[in-house]
Amino acid sequence: MAAVLLVPEWLSGRSSIPPVAVDGIDAEPTTDGRLLGHFPYSEASSDLLVPVEAGIELHRDAALALNAMRRSAAADGVDLRLLSGYRSHDLQKSIFFDVKSERNQSAAERAKVSAPPGYSEHSTGYAVDLGDGEDPATNLSQSFENTRAFRWLQDNAAVYHFTLSFPVINPQGVSYEPWHWRFEGSSEALRAFEPARRLAVGQ
Ligand SMILES: [Zn+2]
Repeated sequence: MAAVLLVPEWLSGRSSIPPVAVDGIDAEPTTDGRLLGHFPYSEASSDLLVPVEAGIELHRDAALALNAMRRSAAADGVDLRLLSGYRSHDLQKSIFFDVKSERNQSAAERAKVSAPPGYSEHSTGYAVDLGDGEDPATNLSQSFENTRAFRWLQDNAAVYHFTLSFPVINPQGVSYEPWHWRFEGSSEALRAFEPARRLAVGQ
């Protein structure tokens, strides 16, 4: 006999990952699954991760696309550097809470510039932080938008299915991150980011 399932909102197309409360953060996830603006993301399974740089792994689909993109950038004289890729929930937890206490920030302040654990696009293995090898002083800084690497990405990243996750104005209320791009070039990746994409286009 078929069981009758009640489909919660996070399974009905708004978000495919169940939102969870996070120890140390008082805020609760909203009905669309977001916590302090960020959507929930599951961790990539380890057999799908491949090393791209020393200490940096990506989902293999994103790694292939990134490598092709970097070769194309290099042919145009642009040195695209991979600064960060896959992060486990545990690593994201340290990044969120250690820096939060270092800077004496509230969870809401911290969430403007960093995702809470369980809510980072980096957990999927599809998100990358990119820098300009010729201008490392702009790494992970909004001044990255003035580099040749950023301008090249604006013109070419879509060809490789990379999209800017947090443009100047974004409905998630996250700070502008010109260095943070996500791969949407497979059905799995598209599904992972569907809630974010739908919010961005106002659906
Ligand atoms: Zn990032």
